Amino acid sequence: MKNLSILGSTGSIGENTLDLVRRFPDNFRICGLAAGGNLPKLVQQAMEFRPEVVSIQTPELAEQLEKELRRSDYHPDIVWGADGLDHVATLAAADLVVLAVVGAVGLRPTYKALRVGKKVALANKESMVMAGRLLNETARRHQGEILPLDSEHSAIWQSLRGERRSALRRLTLTASGGPFFRLDKAELVHITPEQAVKHPRWEMGPKISIDSATMMNKALEIIEARWLFEEEPGKINALIHPQSIVHSLVEFCDGSVIAHLALPDMRLPIAYALNAGERLELDFPVLDLAREGHLDFYPVDGERFPALDLAHQALTLGDSGTVALNAANEMAVSRFIAGEIGFLEITEQVATVLASVEECRFSSIQEVLDYDREIRLSMGAE
Ligand code: MG
Repeated sequence: MKNLSILGSTGSIGENTLDLVRRFPDNFRICGLAAGGNLPKLVQQAMEFRPEVVSIQTPELAEQLEKELRRSDYHPDIVWGADGLDHVATLAAADLVVLAVVGAVGLRPTYKALRVGKKVALANKESMVMAGRLLNETARRHQGEILPLDSEHSAIWQSLRGERRSALRRLTLTASGGPFFRLDKAELVHITPEQAVKHPRWEMGPKISIDSATMMNKALEIIEARWLFEEEPGKINALIHPQSIVHSLVEFCDGSVIAHLALPDMRLPIAYALNAGERLELDFPVLDLAREGHLDFYPVDGERFPALDLAHQALTLGDSGTVALNAANEMAVSRFIAGEIGFLEITEQVATVLASVEECRFSSIQEVLDYDREIRLSMGAE
């Protein structure tokens, strides 16, 4: 029996994780849940899985949560805010921490979990983007471990197993291309937030859907791959594959390419990470290649989608580059959602910020967070 803590339990990764826990009650148990502001869903999850600790975003919500549970026979410890996230990430009982909160807020709990030697199944790509080098060092020093949860990184993890790392020539992350990869630049100018949040293949939150539409999601994943697999940035590229069936590919020194294929279902990479790389028996619909008929691939057009070039540019700038890219993107996406800037301006603003970044290496998570704040303030954050 493995005890799990989930941070970001009411989002799509969190819900898919709980679906697996429900299917495998003899394998997994929930010891901690943390969510943002979705009180009704968190109450439901807490009542069903009965973890010892539940965390929510604010003290007001924590009070309401306590009130909701008071009438029942279940009385967990209720915590809140950033300290609540840290607490759930470091629970003594947790054998594995699923880190599925969205955005820079995920960095601190990821770091804290690794520092107490936890295994972390990481869906929060911002942590690796902001501080991949530091998190790897922390994991090594404290016997923690980072397991990929993203479908692309899980595909690479699976394709690399049993291979000599020196034989690796190239990692190729596949990208759906988002809903607009066929549109020309003149059409992209007029994309609205409502259009951008509708993703053709995956059901996701608004931030990641917009990142997918600008291909910034793939840019973040390239940076994440650089640290998860500790490979040279020059060996990592991306390829558009609208069907999202090939989840990523690895090329070796003899020219062989190993890919991971499956129908798009986040529960597969989650199950693989939850079970630490041992396959669980899942009875989901399986891939029928004869029925698919064909799989399509296209190069990424850097002219219309400059995000990938920005990722490589950020990586050459070191820690400051990737922190700046992430902060600038989060700021620009929220401005786009608020209707303040157009679709193409998201990557333009990121490019402008990157152009002024000086190469810098950070030696602590606090330095990373301070620089993140500095970039946001320079873009007018309050
Ligand atoms: Mg992904």
